[in-house]
Amino acid sequence: MATTAGLRDTAAPLEKTPLETYVPPAKPSLIGLSRAELAARLGDIGVPERQQKMRVQQLWHWLYFRGAQSFDEMTSVSKDTRSGLAERFTVDRPEVVAEQISNDGTRKWLLRLPSGDGLQKAHEVECVYIPETDRGTLCVSSQVGCTLNCSFCHTGTQRLVRNLTAGEIVGQIMVARDRLNDWADRETPHGNRLITNIVMMGMGEPLYNFDAVRDALLIVSDNEGIGISRRRITLSTSGVVPNIRRAGEEIGVALAISLHAVRDELRNELVPLNRKYPIAELLQACRDYPGASNARRITFEYVMLKGVNDSLDDAKLLVKLLKGIPAKINLIPFNPWPGSAYECSDWEQIEKFSEYVFNAGYSSPVRTPRGRDILAACGQLKSETEKLSARERQALRAMAMTD
Ligand code: SAH
Ligand code: SF4
Repeated sequence: MATTAGLRDTAAPLEKTPLETYVPPAKPSLIGLSRAELAARLGDIGVPERQQKMRVQQLWHWLYFRGAQSFDEMTSVSKDTRSGLAERFTVDRPEVVAEQISNDGTRKWLLRLPSGDGLQKAHEVECVYIPETDRGTLCVSSQVGCTLNCSFCHTGTQRLVRNLTAGEIVGQIMVARDRLNDWADRETPHGNRLITNIVMMGMGEPLYNFDAVRDALLIVSDNEGIGISRRRITLSTSGVVPNIRRAGEEIGVALAISLHAVRDELRNELVPLNRKYPIAELLQACRDYPGASNARRITFEYVMLKGVNDSLDDAKLLVKLLKGIPAKINLIPFNPWPGSAYECSDWEQIEKFSEYVFNAGYSSPVRTPRGRDILAACGQLKSETEKLSARERQALRAMAMTD
């Protein structure tokens, strides 16, 4: 993790200290393993090398194409192999603690993750399904909380942070398919699956959990498994410049940049990571993004904050800055959360801003807030359990041990 030395002091630290190291449960889940890792696990239970490739294909199909929830279902796998696997492994996904359904059809799942510190509910993340007429989008988290502190983001106020594993990231998509009954083909308003698109826009900064996000997205996009094409997966970053190129080269998904301001002074405040990677460097990384083209544009997200970043001058500078980058602009009405210091821009102002950007040649849809009634909209995700202080957690741990 990068150091904050030499950076301007502010009330909020630029980056928070990550949580203790993750300790997996006694029996690990196979969810999130690549083909090579599955082969190694099969070797561990005595499957001879010459059979491993075939067995991996079978397992892959059951796990990621059919969504099997137990080894018993895997009827094409020999009984011995199945029982060998069941002795050592599970196919568990993250546990669903709560499911909320909004009056607009948006669904939010609260998932509990093992913390390894003796506390049952120490770690939780959220995952949101947003149905639209032409698509169904799943918004996936990459971390518990976020080490960054964007001033308008609820997740950023969360103290505890840990990286999710690849299995926990893939697991969110699998939970959503389980809950929506979305494993088998059927007719939907937009093809044969409800979930057609993935956005890495839940809790956390995906480019600060690069390896796990990459491994997970390679599994999710594999067309012999879950099969969601890379073109339908969007990774959103607040601007971790050194990892942007890697995302293009090693993952190959669509890129979204949380820009939110066009002047460094303001962006330093809204997205403090800007002090480390200022706008000019960020935009250069976008110009160099492998695979960006007019057919595969980079999305620039811009949250509309009343009187802060929503003037026509801002719109003009935005258009100027993005010159030469294959871009689309996504205007997001600010979603307030309890205690937030900003207000959403007036609708009229959002329209004016959008019109200017549109007339300059950019597609600039205003993202309609979805699932507001269940606090599922952009930037509102934040779990409750992190509110415990270290001392409170220690006390609870002690209680758990004397129970
Ligand atoms: N950490 C990554 C991805 C998660 S945030 C990133 O920052 O890009 C997903 C999007 O929601 C980002 O564009 C973020 O800036 C935006 N967002 C955060 N809080 C918001 C809020 N309260 N209202 C509207 N959008 C918000
Ligand atoms: Fe983290 Fe993104 Fe929220 Fe910023 S906007 S605090 S990077 S989740």
